[in-house]
Amino acid sequence: FTETTRDVVVIGAGAAGLTAANELRKAGLSVAVLEARDRVGGRLWTDVIDGAMLEIGGQWVSPDQDALKETIAELGLETYSRYREGDSVYVGPSGEMSRFTGEMFPVAPETEAVIDELTQRLDAMVAEIDPDQPWAHPNAAEWDTISWDAWLRQQTDDDEAVRNLAFATGSAMLTKPTHTFSLLQSLLMAASAGSYSNLVDADFILDKRVVGGLQQVPVLLAERLGDDVFLGQPVRTLEWSDAGVRAVADGMSVRARAAVVALAPVLYNRISFVPALPRRQHQMHQHISMGFVIKVHAVYDRPFWREQGLSGTAFSPYEVCHEAYDNTNHGDERGTLVGFVSDQQADDVFTLSAEERKTRILESLSHYYGPEALDPVVYYESDWGSEEWTRGAYAASFDLGGLHRYGADLRSPVGPIRFACSDMAGAGYQHVDGAIRMGRLAAADILAQVRS
Ligand code: FAD
Repeated sequence: FTETTRDVVVIGAGAAGLTAANELRKAGLSVAVLEARDRVGGRLWTDVIDGAMLEIGGQWVSPDQDALKETIAELGLETYSRYREGDSVYVGPSGEMSRFTGEMFPVAPETEAVIDELTQRLDAMVAEIDPDQPWAHPNAAEWDTISWDAWLRQQTDDDEAVRNLAFATGSAMLTKPTHTFSLLQSLLMAASAGSYSNLVDADFILDKRVVGGLQQVPVLLAERLGDDVFLGQPVRTLEWSDAGVRAVADGMSVRARAAVVALAPVLYNRISFVPALPRRQHQMHQHISMGFVIKVHAVYDRPFWREQGLSGTAFSPYEVCHEAYDNTNHGDERGTLVGFVSDQQADDVFTLSAEERKTRILESLSHYYGPEALDPVVYYESDWGSEEWTRGAYAASFDLGGLHRYGADLRSPVGPIRFACSDMAGAGYQHVDGAIRMGRLAAADILAQVRS
């Protein structure tokens, strides 16, 4: 067991923690980063499965994500666009596949009119929301105490319109059933990407990938810190007082003037805070939970759907895989599809055996791309729900009513402890961009305090 001393201890080597550590180091402070896993990156993880390079966690970069784009450029990484030539496909309530281009699903004209009208209203509401403080909106309490599903159903009785509007922030983003989170939470999700229209525009939100995988961002950030990153060191206890902190992990402890706790908020209670965190934090943290989505990777000997003039982009609120895309790696001859199975559907397929689950998921992909989708050469399910140091995907959000009740305190420091994570960001909320922004903010706060 080793004892060491630094200016700041950072707990968690995800994008948030490693950004904070680098910012502090640049400003001349000494740091130690303690990471529970035997790798860095947290929810960013590139691995080779049966010979195929797969991005098991986060991968896409969108044009508004300035903090991530600056970091990618600074690290000298290259990006490439997601393949999107040709038609998208949609499976409607009858189970029929239809092809379309543009953003509007091929639905009946009446349904299209409802979707259009509600999208305009949602964009107007989102424009009034400050993603850094959605609770400050005059209607925050009202909008936070009605579920996203209930609000949509109050606006229209067109079920197909509701499902298509709902899944943009539901299955596709917060990855929770739409009756479990509020209209305000949904508006925050959209505001964090600039508008509701941006969020539903796959060409915007899923624009680019990093050559070699997005995990290189944390890997290169960690390289800059060298021996100051300690793997396999889950922090079990964090002692704190006005004088500083002592973080106790399995094989070492670090004394420091300040700590950055850079974990998913659902994991805060894995750490024994001594003394205990204030009452407000105890209460607040119980109203935050992880969404759940399975990211499914299916690799084929060639991107066969392109031969049919398909872009690979596919949506259906009626399918097990509610969305899927061409996810072929840069310069790869093989074709990869990525599909997502979210919230209730994810729970349901996990009651099946692995073989039955694979069959069910590939069948769903075949509804979009035809029977060739049934026979991938590599098949893999990213299951973050079973990862002890994450416990869900993509990220954490408040339950119904929690955002206006507690949101303002989520980032509040406790004595010498700062919290940083994508799951408390405004812009870039639940994304790597938000993690970087929160890492920068925690570092700036500590530096301001040190200098005062
Ligand atoms: P994490 O990455 O969760 O980092 C926290 C770190 O803390 C982890 O390394 C963890 O091991 C460590 N830790 C936990 N407890 C302890 C402890 N007690 N002691 C020490 N260490 C501890 N975002 C995008 O921008 N684009 C995407 O395309 C995208 N797709 C996604 C797909 C999937 C399947 C998933 C899971 C996420 C996706 N995201 C995406 C979200 C994005 O990956 C996350 O928002 C972001 O990586 C979170 O970074 P973070 O540093 O805040 O948290």
